[in-house]
Amino acid sequence: MVLRLSTLFLRTLREDPSDAEVASHRLLLRAGYIRRAAPGIYSWLPLGLKVLAKVEKIIREEMEAIGSQEVHFPALLPKEPYEATNRWAEYGDGIFRLKDRKDADYLLAPTHEEMFTLLVKDLYNSYKDLPLSLFQIQTKYRDEARPRAGLLRGREFIMKDSYSFDIDDEGLERSYQLHREAYVRIFARLGLEVVPVAATAGAMGGSKSEEFLHPTDIGEDTFVQSDGGYTANVEAVTTVVPPAIDFDGAPAAEIMDTPDTPTIETLVNHANSAVARADRGWTAADTLKNVVLAAVLPTGGRELVVVGLPGDRSVDLKRIEANIGTHLSVGGEVTVESATDEDLKKHPDLIKGYIGPGLSLDAAVLGAKGSTGITYLVDPRIVSGTTWVTGANVKGKHVFGLVACRDFCWDGVIEAVEVRAGDEAPDGSGPLRSARGIEMGHIFQLGRKYAEALHLKVLDHNGKLTTVTMGSYGVGVTRAVAALAESNRDGKGIIWPRNVAPADIHLVATGKGEEIFAAAEQLAKELEAAGLEVMYDDRLKVSPGVKFGDAELIGIPTIVVVGRGLAEGLLEVKDRRSGATENIALADAVERLRALVSI
Ligand code: ATP
Ligand code: MG
Repeated sequence: MVLRLSTLFLRTLREDPSDAEVASHRLLLRAGYIRRAAPGIYSWLPLGLKVLAKVEKIIREEMEAIGSQEVHFPALLPKEPYEATNRWAEYGDGIFRLKDRKDADYLLAPTHEEMFTLLVKDLYNSYKDLPLSLFQIQTKYRDEARPRAGLLRGREFIMKDSYSFDIDDEGLERSYQLHREAYVRIFARLGLEVVPVAATAGAMGGSKSEEFLHPTDIGEDTFVQSDGGYTANVEAVTTVVPPAIDFDGAPAAEIMDTPDTPTIETLVNHANSAVARADRGWTAADTLKNVVLAAVLPTGGRELVVVGLPGDRSVDLKRIEANIGTHLSVGGEVTVESATDEDLKKHPDLIKGYIGPGLSLDAAVLGAKGSTGITYLVDPRIVSGTTWVTGANVKGKHVFGLVACRDFCWDGVIEAVEVRAGDEAPDGSGPLRSARGIEMGHIFQLGRKYAEALHLKVLDHNGKLTTVTMGSYGVGVTRAVAALAESNRDGKGIIWPRNVAPADIHLVATGKGEEIFAAAEQLAKELEAAGLEVMYDDRLKVSPGVKFGDAELIGIPTIVVVGRGLAEGLLEVKDRRSGATENIALADAVERLRALVSI
């Protein structure tokens, strides 16, 4: 059916909406693809639905091509399965919870691992039934702390989620690779550049995982790449650990007066003026900085940790959040922030500006079995035998020559420090450079965590009950629409890649003559009959300027104008991306345009 602008449910906006902070959000609103219903919640208009349907179709085809079968779960789910895996608690404020009239608890699903696991348990019981891959394209709900950028981070959004079920690890690896290849094809067909990067599994659990990041400055993820081909989300970068140093014969640590040195800078200045060392001057890298952080637990409680790192580095809270899970007393989604004065008041033994580990010294408070009871974690660069200048837990005093594993210990090692351009890749493939990106997809080897929690077992070759191993794979469908608009636009509007444009041709009739509209009408019908999708601007009393403005805003990649040239039997074809125009004969317009859009 020809989409006629005279009747299409569409009002384009001349002005930028004031509450839209990124370009794709502004353009999708202005061009009439979506409307905001509530913070992070959007309604889809006819044009938006066309694009969404095309994105979904590509994803569906590629999932089916790897043998995955489509199912559809409700979004409204009972609490019990999520309690069995502990995610009801672990999600904290991150999910929407509700009650039915009998006071039973429900949630709007943020993702569906539990339900897929139970469905397979319900119907399958033998290794002969496996491998199995199921997917759905379905609405998810997450009460995001910071919904932003329109569809990019919504509180209601559409995800393609799929799950693989295998009898053993090799099977899981195969299923995972199939998905990985399908994802590469999906994003290629969408026309969306992505970089697969190593990722952390986070609160999902499981082992191997990769994210598909779309590089863009407005992305909320930071990833690194080396010339030798290493790629990782910064959250997943592992530090190259320096070799341990033999500390036999290292001089004893010494507490020194360092008045007014609560910062690394003041400490280094003081050391350089008051504490001579033979070989060179002191630098920030000689100091061990101890930062007090508070992990905000899904329960709402706060757990303090102290992180020790070289003084020339700073903490990266997102890296800590991604890796702190195993060091806390409860699992789940945590946010990590600087400890507040309120937090510190509960620990008068932590002397701000002078905090340090040091079991062998009088004022020792931190470190494994330290007297504060606070977990002490260190950056992997703090290895046995390294020597540090650090706080003595007394105002105006620092310890010099404190040796790791001789004078102090820690409860755990954590990737806590920002990754800098120039740091070495962990696989030795060269120095790292960093960029920003948006996560478009995420693939996980979940392993047996969910199958164990929900008792998904099947009989193996020997007739023994075996726990199934699973993978979980997501693509942000509505996020993909926004990312495509974000990366395909100019000052005038969106420029959709052909595969996802709401139509193949934007046909514009301009001028007063009836014959112009008659010819355009005829052409629209012929193009449709030839299999092309046509949006036809048949509005009568609308100026050419407005029509062209709308065409450029809406962003169908080929604009065809029936106007003045018609007298000579000519049409104008305009390429929205390059701006190039060409006159073609009306007589062979259908053939020419069909060839053009099938490229
Ligand atoms: P993010 O790190 O961006 O919050 P996530 O790691 O929580 O994402 P997953 O649980 O891996 O996301 O979900 C799979 C996919 O769903 C993501 O790769 C992303 O494309 C999409 N997605 C996740 N959260 C949102 C959201 N709030 N709005 C739109 N799409 C989302
Ligand atoms: Mg993710």
